[in-house]
Amino acid sequence: MPRGGARLLQGGPIAAEIRQAVAEDVAAYRERHDRAPVLAVVICGRDAPSMVYLQQILRSCEKVGIEGRLVEVDGEAAEASVVETIRELNADPAVNGIIVQMPLPPTIRLRSVVDAIDPAKDIDGIHPLNAGLLRLGYDGFLPATAHAAVEILRRSGIEIEGKRAVVVGRSAVVGMPAAFLLVRENATVTVCHSRTRDLKHHVKDAEILVVAAGHPGLITGSMLRRGAVVVDVGINVVDDKLVGDVDFESARRVASAITPVPGGVGPLTNALLLAHLARAAHAQADAEPGAAAASRTRASVGSANQPLTRGAT
Ligand code: NAD
Repeated sequence: MPRGGARLLQGGPIAAEIRQAVAEDVAAYRERHDRAPVLAVVICGRDAPSMVYLQQILRSCEKVGIEGRLVEVDGEAAEASVVETIRELNADPAVNGIIVQMPLPPTIRLRSVVDAIDPAKDIDGIHPLNAGLLRLGYDGFLPATAHAAVEILRRSGIEIEGKRAVVVGRSAVVGMPAAFLLVRENATVTVCHSRTRDLKHHVKDAEILVVAAGHPGLITGSMLRRGAVVVDVGINVVDDKLVGDVDFESARRVASAITPVPGGVGPLTNALLLAHLARAAHAQADAEPGAAAASRTRASVGSANQPLTRGAT
């Protein structure tokens, strides 16, 4: 462990590298197709807590040459109109990727909305087809946050293979996909959740700990194994400040490496979403009738989303 505490795994510089690669990739796309790739962000009512996050995404799109479109559905709208809006975006050849504001208003069923998204435009990997591809180890779109939680380890040179990894949280968008990705990386993975007995016992065993529970201070330094690598996915507001699920000050004295909040997984999530969009745009263009065969062999930054496992069963 470095003197003076854990190594900080900063997402910012890695995100900047990814954004730079995406910007170059998007410039090539624009040159070739004479149009910008388009991300549609569907929102149901502007007062949603995720609005700040979505506006950040739209700003990031602009910086790399992606056109971000905010598609508003009335906050009081029926489920059918949200589904219809998504179907229209699916059918619009100019739109390459679709993300939907979460959480949805309580009157709208998540499943109906998720099922409506064209899997080829589902750049945040929430459609069952993409979830299934991940589960089976095939290439699909990964949920950006789970992707970021594992990508920050890979790009920081943290060895994952053979390590005991513990994921705290089993949500469909973060905990479970992060666990599957760690298995792909050949870690031995335990998933803990709200009904786990003796969380401390499991956490103490972790050489790599990924925490996505949405509870500030859930994990403290005394719970950690000395030298553990900690990825804090949590985003919580406490006394007007953003904090993770891990008590940073106590954890950094025990861990060998830790992601800060803010500045860890968050920036990488955002950058990977852009990379997924660029990949979707290229894949759709390559699938158009008459697309040059040569373009199908092009290396793209979308390869950040290629299968992670290397030949293991
Ligand atoms: P969620 O509420 O859907 O899931 C939380 C999970 O944590 C559940 O599976 C639950 O079983 C588990 N959990 C809750 N309390 C627990 C406890 N005491 N012990 C063990 N497990 C417990 O949340 P989510 O959408 O998966 O998000 C998790 C966190 O990640 C939130 O803080 C969210 O804000 C954050 N998040 C961050 C990013 C990012 O880019 N960094 C993106 C999305 C979500």
